[in-house]
Amino acid sequence: MEQRKERENRYAIKRNHSNHYGEYTSKETNRENSLCPVTKRCGGCHWMGMDYQEQLREKEKRVRKLLSPYCRLEGIVGMEQPLYYRNKVHAVFGEDRKHRPISGIYEEGTHRIVPVDSCRIENQKADAIIVSVRELLPSFKIRPYNEDTGYGLLRHVLVRTGQVSGQIMVVLVLASPILPSRNNFVKALLKHHPEITTIVVNVNNRNTSMVLGDREQVVYGKGYIEDTLCGKTFRISPRSFYQVNPLQTELLYAKAMEYAALTGRETVLDAYCGTGTIGIIASERAGQVLGVELNAEAVRDARVNAKINQVRNIRFYQNDAGRFLLDMEAQGARADVVLMDPPRSGSSQEFLSAVARMAPEKVVYISCNPETLVRDLKYMTGHGYRVERGMAVDMFPFTEHVESIVLLSKLHTKQNIEVELIMSEIDLTAAESKATYEEIKEYVLEHTGLKVSNLYIAQIKQKCGIIERVNYNLPKSESSRQPKCPPEKEAAIREALEHFRMI
Ligand code: SAH
Repeated sequence: MEQRKERENRYAIKRNHSNHYGEYTSKETNRENSLCPVTKRCGGCHWMGMDYQEQLREKEKRVRKLLSPYCRLEGIVGMEQPLYYRNKVHAVFGEDRKHRPISGIYEEGTHRIVPVDSCRIENQKADAIIVSVRELLPSFKIRPYNEDTGYGLLRHVLVRTGQVSGQIMVVLVLASPILPSRNNFVKALLKHHPEITTIVVNVNNRNTSMVLGDREQVVYGKGYIEDTLCGKTFRISPRSFYQVNPLQTELLYAKAMEYAALTGRETVLDAYCGTGTIGIIASERAGQVLGVELNAEAVRDARVNAKINQVRNIRFYQNDAGRFLLDMEAQGARADVVLMDPPRSGSSQEFLSAVARMAPEKVVYISCNPETLVRDLKYMTGHGYRVERGMAVDMFPFTEHVESIVLLSKLHTKQNIEVELIMSEIDLTAAESKATYEEIKEYVLEHTGLKVSNLYIAQIKQKCGIIERVNYNLPKSESSRQPKCPPEKEAAIREALEHFRMI
């Protein structure tokens, strides 16, 4: 209770500052930045050496410029304490030359593990738990998995933490299902970290670069954690999507609610809804909410989350968002407000054109990629909508990524209703709707823990017949001595290309 109160106070303070840069000033951050010993080899935080206020200015400038044809950016919401914000921490396990266990991340473009015990942007408790797991291994005669020989057991450890609830989930990813002396191992880990609330063994015995396998066994606690966002409780299971920076997520969602300005009567569509967070938060101010999401597991979590929060005016559907809108259209159904939060690749022509025909009064578009956001805004402003407001939110300090949110409203003038439907504007070829190299890298890292280089991505794109616009990533001639993309990275890149619907 106390914890929640304290958090609400903090939240209130932050909201008052929501149009300004974060309060955190930089001397300490910078001094700490320079202490990160693996910045270069890790490649995760490209802006590690940069003053935090300068990072915010850079991000704001970039989003302001992109949005300038449509609206004036209201500002960027920064963090007061931009360090240690990631609630999901992943470490890959291996051995050093003397066969001692090591844990960390893959060095960019290789399968060498860079040992990392603590990271400037990760939850510190999670980092400490990973170190403890590693230190316990020898006494239990558990060896990390060796990718080359196929020997060993422990492949990865994933720790997810609930910022408000304080709950902690540890996922031990094993190459085979049996964890020797399981109960004693669990006991020993809990002795070091009684704050752990659940431990799950995940079995991944495939020769794949995906971190998590399909089989799971709960060895301690409930098998999931819960966390609170904007006063609602959300279940997070090992494999479901949850924003990695919950403090900023609350500010983002608060902005979404401000932009939507619901009166309690509206039918709201939460498109690309994940585990239902935004829709559930919107539900108490709406007549009814429909949530649509492609990932079946996320939809399952969303339904549980609606129950946990006793929300009765919400329904979740597992479907492609575009197809779902076409179904709605066919049934003559419509929404008054559309909240949309698509992946980095942005939305689809099918979805946007159906929204334009359905003509909701407002569309609140949340985006983690301002480039695809403006591409989609271009379409919507050509089809009866005006961008009213826009804001940037720094969800990922020390990286170059930035979240944006805009409010579109329906124009009612005759002139605008008669705008010709120029489909070709958005009729992108598969190759053009592509994700950038950075997005592919990020997707691969997030899903597999692997780092892939531009060269490897270019090689696989070429193999898949996606013509490179600029061939600088490719060898000048067939005989050039270029490293070849290893099969597990190829599989990971192909998965990303499929995810972004480029193949
Ligand atoms: N709004 C959620 C999730 C945003 S992430 C949150 O804030 O937590 C984007 C979501 O879009 C992911 O859950 C992804 O599975 C989903 N998605 C991707 N492509 C989709 C599509 N074509 N149709 C519906 N959902 C899709």
